[in-house]
Amino acid sequence: MSLSPDPLSLTSAEFIAASAKSGRSRHDALAAYRAFHRAGTHQPWMAAPPPRPTRQLVDDRTVKFLIDLGGDLETESVIIPMPHRTGRFSRTLCVSSQVGCAMGCTFCETGQMGLMRHLSVREIVQQLHVARFLVEHPFADETRPTAGAFDIANIVFMGMGEPMDNLDAVLQAVRIFCDGNGPGIGCSRVTISTVGRTDGIRRLGEFIQEPGLRRVGLAVSLNAPTDEIRSSIMPINRSEPLAKLRQAMVEFPKRPTSALCAEYVLIPGVNDRLEHADQICEFLKGIRCSLNVIPYNPRRDSPWPAPDEATVDAFVARAISNGQFTKRRRTKGRTAMAACGQLGNERVRRRKFIELGTSRAAPSLRADRAL
Ligand code: SF4
Repeated sequence: MSLSPDPLSLTSAEFIAASAKSGRSRHDALAAYRAFHRAGTHQPWMAAPPPRPTRQLVDDRTVKFLIDLGGDLETESVIIPMPHRTGRFSRTLCVSSQVGCAMGCTFCETGQMGLMRHLSVREIVQQLHVARFLVEHPFADETRPTAGAFDIANIVFMGMGEPMDNLDAVLQAVRIFCDGNGPGIGCSRVTISTVGRTDGIRRLGEFIQEPGLRRVGLAVSLNAPTDEIRSSIMPINRSEPLAKLRQAMVEFPKRPTSALCAEYVLIPGVNDRLEHADQICEFLKGIRCSLNVIPYNPRRDSPWPAPDEATVDAFVARAISNGQFTKRRRTKGRTAMAACGQLGNERVRRRKFIELGTSRAAPSLRADRAL
């Protein structure tokens, strides 16, 4: 096994320390780390560079790309353009933290795969490196390359997997993303989304006390105003009901310039009534947060269609009239199965599940529970 220092697994300080063991000076190691993350330059004495994406799909300006992990497994990541009023746009990268997911949310393609395995720090961070340096970006003439890299302004852990189930690797990946000598993504531009694992929310609250990481974002996938509805679409709610989740959200450290994000996938006939909007606003009362309404993107073999525009608009308007700061997420990448809740390899999904332990304090959810 190679002991070469790996810029995809180590912060710059860790990389410098690891390089010193093989006689590299601090100056040389730091220069190599910066060049790797800023210009994609790889030195032969480092761990191997990341592979090229095996496939990429484009839907309008949204790019989904896959990276082979060996063993017939792959990661899925999505680059989403965010247009600005000026006519320019920035890019958000949606990264995966696991192959598959154990949480079994019934509206989610990944949830139908079950958990295949956790991703390592390297496998998480390489998604950013590949997005910046190895993906062929369509419409490159409209972008603003920096030092040979394509801009990725934001990172969201909303791809395959429940980040709180693989939290040690996710937090180390966040340290690297935000390393000023590395990718240099502003920590307020990194968001970790959870299905509502309260132990993970608490650990993230401790993590953001580390220097420079205070503004890392937290998004909580709520999706229902009552335990009855939530348990019917999200098995996690049986062990972590709404009252417990709300308490964890209330206790999450307050930041002057960062609010929590409450995500609400609007599913026809399940959680889309106006009284549901009233109930969810009541639930969020007293918590400084943005309600992010996401029109459901049908997964394969979905029992529900996408909601119609009028229903989405009425739900959002009702939440706003209740005084809740509310945004509607625009749908992107639906035809490439790159939209929210649509990641997951159908071929892998048909395979037998491998049962794996989850990281610290994980409840023993089985991958096939909700299937
Ligand atoms: S919504 Fe998130 S937590 Fe739920 S099954 Fe999908 S990937 Fe897992």
